[in-house]
Amino acid sequence: MGTKGIEILDLDVNELIKVLNKALADEWLAYYQYWIGAKVITGPMRGEAVTELIEHANDELRHADMVAERINQLGGTPILNPKEWYDHTNCGYDAPEDPAIKKILAQNIKGEQCAIQVYKDIADMTKDKDVTTYEMALEIMKDEIEHEDDLEQLVEDLKQVG
Ligand code: FE
Ligand code: FE
Ligand code: MG
Repeated sequence: MGTKGIEILDLDVNELIKVLNKALADEWLAYYQYWIGAKVITGPMRGEAVTELIEHANDELRHADMVAERINQLGGTPILNPKEWYDHTNCGYDAPEDPAIKKILAQNIKGEQCAIQVYKDIADMTKDKDVTTYEMALEIMKDEIEHEDDLEQLVEDLKQVG
């Protein structure tokens, strides 16, 4: 972003870059958690769950792209080394060590609930101060809300099959 674009922001840009890098770490870890979950998941409704997990993985990767682009615009550097993901993540990573569909869905629901809070906090931090980041945070938050709802719906459907 040009100098004027940064100058008009009514907040601590370095602090915002830090917060966005934490969200970037979350997105990559969420991406892999969904991606690997889709590879190992077992149980009833496996096919449907795989489709949903892959869709969500692709969304998380798109979110990572959006967040990294915004970090660039702000004059920051997106995290360069995956080793740093664990140091910066808000939501962590749950390895799908138990591949049972119920367990994997529960892990990912927990991740989505964390992600919703992360973007709510970024929206609160940037509201009336940085319109571009604010609108990005809302857009991503809407996706995370949809992700949580989709997974909870799958859990409900699973109850019907027993
Ligand atoms: Fe995401
Ligand atoms: Fe998500
Ligand atoms: Mg979905």
